[in-house]
Order: sequence, then C-alpha cells, then structure tokens
Amino acid sequence: MPPTRSRATKSAVPEQLGFAGMPERLFVCTPSKLGAYTDCPRRYRYSYVDRPSQPKGPPWAHNSLGASVHTALKNWYGLPTERRERDSLPALLKATWVREGYRDVEQERIVYRRALGWLDTYVATLDPEDEPLGVERVVAAKTGILALNGRADRIDERVGPDGSEAVIVDYKTGRSGLSDDDARGSQALALYAFAAQRVFRRPSRRVELHHLPTGTISVHEHTEESLARQLRRAEETAIDIMAAEKAVAAGASADDEFPVNPGSLCGWCDFRKVCPAGAEATAKDPWTAVEHLTT
Ligand code: SF4
Repeated sequence: MPPTRSRATKSAVPEQLGFAGMPERLFVCTPSKLGAYTDCPRRYRYSYVDRPSQPKGPPWAHNSLGASVHTALKNWYGLPTERRERDSLPALLKATWVREGYRDVEQERIVYRRALGWLDTYVATLDPEDEPLGVERVVAAKTGILALNGRADRIDERVGPDGSEAVIVDYKTGRSGLSDDDARGSQALALYAFAAQRVFRRPSRRVELHHLPTGTISVHEHTEESLARQLRRAEETAIDIMAAEKAVAAGASADDEFPVNPGSLCGWCDFRKVCPAGAEATAKDPWTAVEHLTT
C-alpha cells in the first residue's frame, strides 16, 4: 500500500525553468526511485538518503535472471541484422548470465535452460531487420519539479494514425502473467513515454509489457490526460520526498519522516534485516522466486 500522507499540493507544472512558485531545485529521479518511495518511504530512505547506505541482503536469483535476459536481448539488437538469429542466443545468454542468488549449480542450470527457451520463443516474434529507436536507451525530460531520467528496455518506432510514434517496450520475467491494467497503471512506463516524446519529438502514447515466460504482451494506449495524470502523481511524490528530506535536515526524526510501510513487500526487501518492521516478515530465500521454474 502506498503511504497515506501527502504533502503535495501542486499539479503538474509545464516544462519550463525559472518562473515563480517553483521549488528551489528540481528533483532528480528515475521512475524506480519514485516507485521506491511510493512502495515504502523507509525503504527509500535506506536506499537513497542514509549515508553510509544501510547494508543490503544477499543478491536475489530473480534479479540475476531478469538482468541476464535483458542484457541478452540488448546484445541481440547489437548484432548485425544478418546475425540476429535464434542460433545466436545460447552464446549471448551465456556471455551475460549472472550467477548470483541461485540455490546451487543444478538450479541455475535449469533456470538458464528455461530462460533460453523464453528468448528463443520471443525472438522468433521479432523482425531482425527492425532497428528500434532505442535499446536500453536513457531518456530524460524536465518539468517544473522533476528532472527525470530512466533507461527504457526498448523504444520502437511504429506508424500510427498520426505518423511515426515511439512505443515503450518493457520486458518482464516474473512469475505472474500481466494484464493490460498493469500496463495502464505503470507509472514507470508512462514517465518513459513522456520523456520519449520530448527526446524523439514525436507522439509516444503506447506502452507495452512483454512477459517472456508466457509470451504475452499487455498494452495500454495513453492519452495526453492520462500521461499528465501520471506525471502529476510523480511530481506529488517528489514534493513529499523533498519535504521529508528538508524536515530531516532541519532536525526532524528520519524515522518519522520516512515511515515504514509493512506489507507483502517486506519479505522481498533488501533491508529486511535492518528495518524494525521487516524483522516480522517471513524471510524468503534468495532463490524462492525462481523455484517454480525447476518443477
Ligand atoms: S522491510 Fe518492509 S517496512 Fe521495512 S523498509 Fe523494507 S518494505 Fe519497508
């Protein structure tokens, strides 16, 4: 559950610097930084505020799996078009495979084979001749409050009713399938679309989640209004964060300003061991989220 309090009062401010009523500085952020605060202000503090940073738990196998598959796809697009073949995949995945977090070598091998199968099925749906506008491309944009940047998995160029459009593609490797509601509700995808419009100077409304384990694609077509709504929420989150940081700098309690938000995420939280609320959560093994792939 997101935190219930909100200090934010402003609505989305048009992109322009230097007029009255703006905060003194822009809030530099990625979608995942904003998401960390929305999920749990305390986790945000442990990640981004406390210095030295709080110690994290061990690496997660599902993160290793996600990173391996993402990098293999990035490198697939890095090949000359004539080499973008399914036969290239084993070497690509092997070269990018992240080994951390698995229970043992046997589990890692089984998951590797599953991931290779996903990639094999997925690239069969791609046109090797296609050159996306960006692959793991950083896009950035400013509003009156945010200096936003983020790395989109892929940004496709497609022709829509109004000509060339930038389509945001996000790869997913988690267990659960995804619905169009997930694409609609994703703040990260909306912020990438907002930034892509600025960077590529063309409309970017369509966002897609490509779930590799099931081969499904969840889609949402944003409107100007829905993008503005997501942007406004992001700005409100940034205002809350800046207010909390300012209060702590002025002597307020960091525990009060960045409260815990206990819930189902705690078992998967990197800071479970240092957080007072996390101590009550059931611990997960680093490989728990990939165990179903081995049965
Ligand atoms: S363990 Fe739970 S409450 Fe504590 S920081 Fe992590 S997500 Fe927040």
